[in-house]
Amino acid sequence: MVIGAHLDSWGLGTGALDNGCNVAMVIDIARQMQRLGLRPRRTIRFALWNGEEQGLYGSFGYMRTHADELDRHVMASSYDIGSGRINGFFTGGRPRLAAAVEQVLAPVDGLGPFTLIDVPIVGTDNYDFMMEGIGNLVGNHEAATYGPNYHAATDTFDKVDQRQLRLNAAIVAAVTWGFAQMDVDWQRQSRQEIQALIDATDLGEQMKTFGLWEPWISGQRGRKADRQESR
Ligand SMILES: [Zn+2]
Repeated sequence: MVIGAHLDSWGLGTGALDNGCNVAMVIDIARQMQRLGLRPRRTIRFALWNGEEQGLYGSFGYMRTHADELDRHVMASSYDIGSGRINGFFTGGRPRLAAAVEQVLAPVDGLGPFTLIDVPIVGTDNYDFMMEGIGNLVGNHEAATYGPNYHAATDTFDKVDQRQLRLNAAIVAAVTWGFAQMDVDWQRQSRQEIQALIDATDLGEQMKTFGLWEPWISGQRGRKADRQESR
């Protein structure tokens, strides 16, 4: 189970909303779990990605460094939209995973309501997990102060809603813990299945917008066809 936020920022302000606040949240969840002496069934990796703004390079690098382990990843979650209330998740266009997300959110029901939007999205560190066929979530947030300060000199600490950030940490901790504990009935998708997702949604258009289409087609980035498929 991977939980991550990106450490770099666009650099005009101090990148407090994009994405310092969620980096702090990831660190805080790791610290709290350790302090409580919790021992999850599955490994939880807390990731602070770098180079997100330049091209999602940190999370892409993880795919190469941990290529042999990707089959055993059950979910990767990313947080990158400021400190407004988490009001749900983008669940990547995988209906089977949505039910599991609802299950892991049950303990924090009182912090909801939560809405799941089952579409694939490009633009943050879920991307390479998605293109490697791994279940992926992106936290969705109420707009709050994010929009007006996006990639702007005004993206500074005073815009962070610290109380809400702590409540978001509770939500994300429940999701992280839930996926570290549960029995899962899904597997990593094959290249064919990922291609089917592209064909059925606007994912390909999003990839083209971000300059990520060619690396997928050329096999430079994303899941390779296995031997059985290419036969
Ligand atoms: Zn960001």
